[in-house]
Amino acid sequence: MAILVAGGAGFIGSHLCERLLNDGYEVVCVDNLVTGAEMNIAALRQRRGFTFVNHDIIEPLPELPLLEQIYHLASPASPPVYQEFAVETMRVNSEGAYRLLELALQNRARFFFASTSEVYGDPLEHPQREEYRGNVSMIGPRSMYDEAKRYGEALTSTYARSRGLETRIVRIFNTFGPRMDPADGRVVTNFIAQALRNEPITVYGDGSQTRSFQYVSDLVEGIVRLMASNYSGPVNIGNPEEYTMLQLADLVQQLTGTSSEIVFRPLPEDDPRQRKPDITLASRELGWEPCVPVVDGLRRTIEYLRTVV
Ligand code: NAD
Ligand code: UDP
Repeated sequence: MAILVAGGAGFIGSHLCERLLNDGYEVVCVDNLVTGAEMNIAALRQRRGFTFVNHDIIEPLPELPLLEQIYHLASPASPPVYQEFAVETMRVNSEGAYRLLELALQNRARFFFASTSEVYGDPLEHPQREEYRGNVSMIGPRSMYDEAKRYGEALTSTYARSRGLETRIVRIFNTFGPRMDPADGRVVTNFIAQALRNEPITVYGDGSQTRSFQYVSDLVEGIVRLMASNYSGPVNIGNPEEYTMLQLADLVQQLTGTSSEIVFRPLPEDDPRQRKPDITLASRELGWEPCVPVVDGLRRTIEYLRTVV
């Protein structure tokens, strides 16, 4: 029996595939490489038990081995990129989720949906607990992602309730680490790539907005624990260490030793003011909490990005 990872050639997906292979599973990675890269899985493809299928999960799926678990991580994740691939983003989290849920039913497999802290939108509650229903624009410039993920959660919950499928939902908060695409436009990659090139570091707005950043190995541990747990409701996985974007820029300047200066650029429309996970539930149900301090994670990410920028 094998595990399917949709989006397995992406940043998070490739780390998850690696972890599952190390745990002794056979892994089938399905990815159309819209935002992922063959480079992310080059080493995995040399290993026994790993298969790569280049396929768009919106389309009917090819023949696959018998599956015991299905992870749906396939979706553009960076705001500029999901805005570029807007319709594709809506479809992969809705129609793509539908295909994988049906596949899970046929295989009697456990299904996992990668949701996001974006389901809380521009949150009016801080930090965000899983009970919070969010403050999301259904027509704004981030809606193709936020609402698609909310629909994905609704569809997943519906299959659990009305079809008896075993499902898990994770709400991922901003995650960073090696194998992020330096050109994806997210803040961690932008700041580090700019610093390594000694170019200006672009802070949007006045830089007082906050995010909470977690290192990728912590997320993967949380994902694996959630999949193995008996808890079927959505669970926040994130590091509550909260930074303003100015603080983050400052930290990147220090850690890279760059000569780059900070410049200010317009704040994108609907950019959330603040975000920080309440991880009480993950701690209670999964015994999980982040282990990698943000500064250590940034050091590792800088080392990786030096090799690709
Ligand atoms: P990523 O872009 O690196 O990975 C996504 C992968 O999905 C890519 O390899 C891409 O090619 C693939 N993909 C996209 N559409 C596809 C399709 N139609 N068919 C097959 N493959 C497809 O992004 P990531 O940061 O690794 O994010 C992975 C998942 O985690 C996404 O679902 C994202 O929404 C979610 N998430 C990520 C973060 C974060 O901070 N990185 C935060 C919240 C949620
Ligand atoms: N941001 C920034 N400079 C950049 C890229 C992003 O100041 O070069 C800001 C962005 O406006 C947002 C925060 O950093 O407030 C996080 O942005 P990202 O796109 O990484 O993630 P998300 O908004 O989805 O949390």
